[in-house]
Amino acid sequence: MHANPPSISRADGVPHDALRCFDDLLAHLPAGVVMHDATGRVVAANRHALALLGRSEHEVWATQAGDAAWHFVRADGTRMPPSEYPVNAVLRTGARVSDLVVGVSRPDHGDVRWAICNAYPERDGHGAIQRVIVCFMDCTVLKDAEQSLHKSEERMRLALQGSTDAPWDWDLVTGEIYYSPRWWEMLGYAPDEQPADPETWVRLTHPDDRMRVVAVLDELLPGQRQSYSMEFRLRHRDGHYVPVLSRGFILRDGLGAAVRLTGTNTDLTERKQVEHRIHELAYFDQLTGLPNRRFLIDELGQILARNGRAGRHGALLFLDLDNFKLLNDTMGHDVGDLLLREVARRLRRALREGDHLARLGGDEFVIVLENLGASPAEATAEVHAVGRKILEVLGEPFELAGRQCASSPSIGVTLFDGAPTGIDTLLRQADLAMYRAKEEGRNTLRFFDPGMQAAADRQAALSAALRTGLARRQFVLYCQPQFGHDGSLVGAEALVRWKRGADELVGPGEFIGAAESGGLIAALGMDVLEQGCHALARWARAPRLAPLKLAVNVSVHQLRDPDFPHAVATLLAATGAPADRLTLELTESVFARNPDDLVDRMQQLRRLGVHFALDDFGTGYSSLAYLARFPLAALKIDRSFVREVDHDPNASSIVEAIIALARKLHLATIAEGVELDAQQAFLAAHGCDVMQGYLLGRPVAMEEFERRYGVVRAQAASGSST
Ligand code: C2E
Ligand code: MG
Ligand code: MG
Repeated sequence: MHANPPSISRADGVPHDALRCFDDLLAHLPAGVVMHDATGRVVAANRHALALLGRSEHEVWATQAGDAAWHFVRADGTRMPPSEYPVNAVLRTGARVSDLVVGVSRPDHGDVRWAICNAYPERDGHGAIQRVIVCFMDCTVLKDAEQSLHKSEERMRLALQGSTDAPWDWDLVTGEIYYSPRWWEMLGYAPDEQPADPETWVRLTHPDDRMRVVAVLDELLPGQRQSYSMEFRLRHRDGHYVPVLSRGFILRDGLGAAVRLTGTNTDLTERKQVEHRIHELAYFDQLTGLPNRRFLIDELGQILARNGRAGRHGALLFLDLDNFKLLNDTMGHDVGDLLLREVARRLRRALREGDHLARLGGDEFVIVLENLGASPAEATAEVHAVGRKILEVLGEPFELAGRQCASSPSIGVTLFDGAPTGIDTLLRQADLAMYRAKEEGRNTLRFFDPGMQAAADRQAALSAALRTGLARRQFVLYCQPQFGHDGSLVGAEALVRWKRGADELVGPGEFIGAAESGGLIAALGMDVLEQGCHALARWARAPRLAPLKLAVNVSVHQLRDPDFPHAVATLLAATGAPADRLTLELTESVFARNPDDLVDRMQQLRRLGVHFALDDFGTGYSSLAYLARFPLAALKIDRSFVREVDHDPNASSIVEAIIALARKLHLATIAEGVELDAQQAFLAAHGCDVMQGYLLGRPVAMEEFERRYGVVRAQAASGSST
C-alpha cells in the first residue's frame, strides 16, 4: 500500500472537475464509496473503500465485476455468487440495493469484514444506467457482537439442557415477556396454553407468596442491584404448587433505570423433598414419628423464653414405661416397637393441641405443657389432671401382635415459671421425679422437689466415696453360716460390709444400689470375689472348713459382662481356691435380658466347677421355664416367705410348693432368714435342705467366722488380703 495514499483513487479519463468535487465530498466520509461504470468496472473508490476491501488501487482498477479481487459473503456466512454482488444486482435489475449486510472476504487478510451495503444506479437523460454507486458502512463490530451473543446463547442453551432451569426474559420497557418452553413445562402447560404476559406468573404465584415476591421486585427495580435470587411457589396445571428458585439479572440503562429482567426458574421440588427428609431424620423419631430429643431441646428453649415473658407456669413431664425392658426381652423387639408406637398414639390423643410431646429414646417420652395456671397450685392441679388422663389411657390393655399386654408409665414432673431455668436442669429434675415414681410403686406421677435433688447429690457423693473406699480396700467380707437338715455346718454366705471409718460399718443395702448405678459394681464385685476365693483357698487347708461351700452374691451387672467367666477363672487360678466350693448367688433379675448369652456364660462357669444358687426366690418375675434352662444347683427361699411360714397358710403353701418344685428339678433348697424355732421346724419337716438365719448364726467378720468354725490361725494369715 502507499505510504501516504491519496484520499481518492480514480481511473483515467474521468472529467477532472467532477472528480475534484467527488474528492472533496468523499474524502472524509466514514464510509466506503465505490463508483462503477455501466459495465461494472470500478472507476473510483475512496480511501475507506480501499481499506475495507483490503485492496490496493491497482488491484481495484484491474477489477471487473465478477473478478475475484474480493469475494462477498452473505450474512449467513455462505459465499455470494458474483451475480448477487451489489453492483451486478443494480446493473441487472436496475433497482437499488438497500441495507444489504455483506461480508467482504479478503483472501490475503484471512478475515471477513462486515458492511451494510447500499447501491444505486445513476442514469443519463434517457434513463440508461451510466454509473453505479456502492456505499459500504463497516459494521464488523456489530456483527462480532451479534455472533458472540449467539455463541453465549448457544452456550446457555447447552448449559440448560437436561437441567431443571427454565429461562425467561422480561422487557420492562415494552412489557413483553418471554417464557421458555421449559418454563411452561415445569408447570405442566404447553407453551401456547396461557397468555405469555407478565400477569401470568403473578397469577400463578402462590397467594401466600405473591405479596412478598411483588415487594421484592418493587424494591429491587428502582435500586442499584444487578441480580436477585428468591424462592416462591408457582401453581402447576394440576393444582399443586411447584417450589422454584428464581434468579435473575437486571439490565439498566445509562440512568440506572431497569430496562430488562432476565433469569431462570429452578424447580426445587426434589431439593425440598430431600431437605424435608433430612429434617425429618434429624428432628423426628422414625419409630413413632414424634419429635426427638434434639427437636425437644430446640423447642423447649423457645417455650421457656415465651413463658418467661408471659410469666406463666409450664410443666415438663418425664414419662418412662414400667417394665418395658422385660417386655422387649420376653416378647421381642418387634412387639416392643408396636407398644412404643401405640403409646405415642395414645399420648398424642390424650394431649391438647398445643401440648408438646417428644420421644427421647427407648421407652422415655417427654411432655411439655404450656400456659398452665398463674399460681403453682393451679398449675399443679392441671398437671395432675393431665397425669391422671395419661395413666388412664396407658393403663388400658394393649393388643400387640395378636396378644394382650399390660403396660404402665412412671411419670416425673417439674414445673417452670418465668424464672430462668436451664433445659438440662428441667430434664434432670423431671427424671429424678420419675425415679421417685418408680421407687414408690410405679404407674404413678411424682412432682420434683428440692429434696430429690439433695438425694441425687447424696448419691453422687456416695459414688465418689465408694470409689475412694475401693481404692483404700475398705470393703470386707462377713460370713453367715448355713446348716444342713441334720444341723451340720455345710457352708456360708459371704456378705460385704463397708468399713468407712474405724467404728463405722455400712451394710450392703446402703451402697450396692449406688455401686450399680454408679458403674462401680464390677470393681466391687471382683474385690468381693477375690476375698471369697482367698477364703476358700485358706479353708481348703483347714480340716473343719475344707468341706464348706462359700456363696458369694453376684450382681446382674457383673454377669452381663462377657468377660466375667474368664475373670472368675483367673481369680480361681491365682488364689488356688477349689472352684466346686464356690457358689454364685444370682437374683431373678439376671434373667430379664438376653437369657441366651447368660446361659452360655453360666455354662462356662459351670465347666470350671462353680455352682449357682438363685437368691430371693419367689420375689422376682422369673418365668419358671428359666429354672430348667439355667444350670442352677439351689433355690434360696426368700426371707419374706420364711418369716410367715409358721403362721400364714399362704406362705407355708408357697414354701411347700417351692420345695416340691426344687426337688422335681433336682435343685437343693436353702431357706434364708430363719429366726424362729417354729420356722426351722416347719422347714425341716417339709424337707428344706439347708437353713440360714439369725436363729442359727448371724453374719460375722470373716476372721471371726474362721475362728469360730475352726480355721487354724497360722494358715489364715497366709492368704487373706483383708
Ligand atoms: P441376700 O443375699 O439375700 O443376703 C441375705 C441378707 O439377709 C443379708 O443381709 C443377711 O444379713 C440378712 N439376714 C440373714 N439372716 C437373717 C435373718 O434371720 N433375719 C433377717 N432379718 N435378715 C437376715 P445383708 O448382709 O444386709 O445383705 C443384703 C443384701 O445385699 C443381700 O441379700 C445381697 O443381695 C446384697 N449383698 C450382700 N453382699 C453382697 C455382695 O458382695 N455383692 C452383691 N452384689 N450383693 C451383696
Ligand atoms: Mg444372697
Ligand atoms: Mg436373699
